[in-house]
Amino acid sequence: MGLTNGAEYSYDGINLKGISLSGIRTAISMPDLSLTFDVAQGYPFLLNLKNFFISHGHLDHAAGIPYIISQKAMARQEAPKFYMPPSLVEPMDRIMRIWEEIEKHEYKYEFIPVKADEEIPIKGNYFMKVFPTTHRIESFGYTLFENHKKLSTKYQGLSKEELIQLRKNGEDVNEVSQTPLVSFTGDTQIEFLDSRPWIRKSKVLLMESTYLDDKKSVEHARTWGHTHLEEILPRLDEIESERIVLIHSSSRYSWDEAQRLLRKQIPAKHRDRVELFPGR
Ligand SMILES: [Zn+2]
Repeated sequence: MGLTNGAEYSYDGINLKGISLSGIRTAISMPDLSLTFDVAQGYPFLLNLKNFFISHGHLDHAAGIPYIISQKAMARQEAPKFYMPPSLVEPMDRIMRIWEEIEKHEYKYEFIPVKADEEIPIKGNYFMKVFPTTHRIESFGYTLFENHKKLSTKYQGLSKEELIQLRKNGEDVNEVSQTPLVSFTGDTQIEFLDSRPWIRKSKVLLMESTYLDDKKSVEHARTWGHTHLEEILPRLDEIESERIVLIHSSSRYSWDEAQRLLRKQIPAKHRDRVELFPGR
């Protein structure tokens, strides 16, 4: 992997590429859909994407914004879209004015303020939905949804012939169901989990777990707007996600140490679906 390419993670057709280490860098992209959750310092694997979803303005998540914009300007790519907390738009615009002055170059970009429950079209059947998180500054999480057409419940049980007849009569026998595929929390206290019902139903839940053992207390985690593994453990039964991928673990734990702490604390029945994101 390395910082240039990010680490790859795939589950059932969902392909992620990224890195996440508490306080240092977080950016998890979905190259197939040309989007990323957060941008860290703007690593090369992010430079050709089109849509950037920023959870909050801390530098380890958002410092790459000016760099990405500048690189795109140089490569004459179209204006990138950055979705972000409303309070971040004006200061980031100011930062961009200053970089324009330094670089003597005019940038093209869009900074788009988000609000909770908003739905943002991506492409095809995909859209993003915004959920509130609880951090030390204004912050949001994002869920990628997929729309599926399926037979309306009121028509289930009808024969093929009956359905064909209904269609001939101009009846729309389908309804659209929405599947939450991937949720990304950014930095947050555990409260996000109860903020919207779809989050814990996401097929893949990328959630922060900054602290993994009692080197730091739950209270410490909460003071800094973070989540402690100790708070996640009692909630595992109710999280329906097929994969719970922990991000943003503290650099005080080496990869091996973090793996050991997970193996030790995650109950056996959940061990197969709780894992650490491979890139840090
Ligand atoms: Zn933060």
